[in-house]
Amino acid sequence: HLGDVGAQGIGLFRTEFQFMVSERMPRTGEQIQLYADVLAAAGEKPVTFRTLDVGGDKVLAYVPTEREENPALGWRALRIGLDRPALLRTQVRALIEAGEGKHLRIMFPLVTVAQEFIAARELVEKELAVAKGRGRQGPAKLEMGVMIEAPAIAFAISMLAGKADFLSIGTNDLMQYFFAADRANARVSDRYDILSAPALKFLRYIREEAARAGLPLSVCGEAAGKPLEAMALIALGYDRLSMPAAGLGPVKRMLRSLDAQAAHGVIESLLTSEQSSIRADLAAWAKSEGVAL
Ligand code: PEP
Ligand code: MG
Repeated sequence: HLGDVGAQGIGLFRTEFQFMVSERMPRTGEQIQLYADVLAAAGEKPVTFRTLDVGGDKVLAYVPTEREENPALGWRALRIGLDRPALLRTQVRALIEAGEGKHLRIMFPLVTVAQEFIAARELVEKELAVAKGRGRQGPAKLEMGVMIEAPAIAFAISMLAGKADFLSIGTNDLMQYFFAADRANARVSDRYDILSAPALKFLRYIREEAARAGLPLSVCGEAAGKPLEAMALIALGYDRLSMPAAGLGPVKRMLRSLDAQAAHGVIESLLTSEQSSIRADLAAWAKSEGVAL
């Protein structure tokens, strides 16, 4: 439905869904088929495949795991991929096979220190060499990215310069860890607001660091698909947003009525606010300017 909704590509393809709806580990052939179908359907539009992001709240019945006191802070995402390289390797092999002759973008979830990304990148490069050794040409273009979800990696962006090809902020996890508030616990998940000076200053810092490192940066968490939050991100200088399909229409409508320069001025002044949320101020400004929210 990319054409129908007016998207320029897929910023976050959650590969774990195939694993979650399956009663056993999807075979390599099944993985290749899915990725190839997605790439074929997307045509010239780029697709960013996020490698298996399980653990935490996403459990696979057929992968035995130990009970953890704090699953969100536990053995999940790329941590599992690096500790169980056979799992990640199979997936990477499937992606490389499906991406033969195509533009392939792979990103890794919950990278916490730069070394984890470097290890993941090496694993991909090894698999690419294996494919080439078997006479495959490999993807026409291969890019590898880092999801910014753990606050620690946000302070290590300079270490990713020249190593990563792109960055993508997962605001769902980044805010959960930033505010120490479980995203799945209704008692606390709405207690803190991404539209607050501390969170927005953090996002401004990440944008500046990515620019200094020369790394393309996008936002792929839920926040990007909400018009007011998207307006704040644009005001902070973000220019690549990825969202659920239903968010595209409302966000585009907001964008077409927005003077980004004016929004930049207003957000900068609101970043000094001592209130726990600047949501109401931003919404009032948008209303006064005729921004379609
Ligand atoms: C995020 O954390 O913002 C994200 C995009 O990944 P997920 O929601 O799948 O954890
Ligand atoms: Mg996440």
